[in-house]
Amino acid sequence: MSIKKYRFILFDLDETLFDFRKSEAVALSKAFELYHLTIDDDIVKVYNDLNFSLWKKLEDKKITKDVLVVERFNLLFEQYNIDLDPAAFEDDYQRILSEQAYLMEGAMDICRYLKRKYDLYSISNGVAFTQHNRMRLSGLKVFLSGHFVSEEVGYAKPDIRFFKHVSQAIPSFQKEKALVVGDSQSSDIQGANNAGIDVCWYNYRGETLQEGLSVNYCINHLRSLKKIL
Ligand SMILES: [Mg+2]
Repeated sequence: MSIKKYRFILFDLDETLFDFRKSEAVALSKAFELYHLTIDDDIVKVYNDLNFSLWKKLEDKKITKDVLVVERFNLLFEQYNIDLDPAAFEDDYQRILSEQAYLMEGAMDICRYLKRKYDLYSISNGVAFTQHNRMRLSGLKVFLSGHFVSEEVGYAKPDIRFFKHVSQAIPSFQKEKALVVGDSQSSDIQGANNAGIDVCWYNYRGETLQEGLSVNYCINHLRSLKKIL
């Protein structure tokens, strides 16, 4: 059942179409291997916590992406007394990460289904080179009409200027006919709310919606999009 007539579907990438957690875990382990280091669950947990808090700072515009990507390894290596250049490690990690293109369950199927009826675009705060490469390797690229990565746009979700750029770049775009699909409250839902665009929350983690945010639809599996679209 189609509830509202949409034309443009704006998909977040990490943890919405891409299984970023899996890609990240594999890339981290391979990067450590490259430097003849062993990684354990403890290091992964610390890395995830450091990375998460730095991404929050990025969303709050307290740091830049360039600082974030190096600082996470700088802090990690400090904590474990690892004598490595964090910038060089980040370069290797990013290259390896760009080669990991694991998808969320149902991602390929839902893109194939939606492509017949809608114009699909990606909207991502990830690193441009990595996202483009993973898009190509994953096989999703053929379903998407365009890609918007914050690094290239100049602004990141939830900044309204990111969505203004997207609105202006998509031919015949009307925000009333657009739907954002994403997992993140702070970037996707906040961003869609800021821009006045409908949003479907892919809440597969079963989070509680923060006060002040609103969603039009909520799903816990990508296949449920077929009931909405
Ligand atoms: Mg995401």
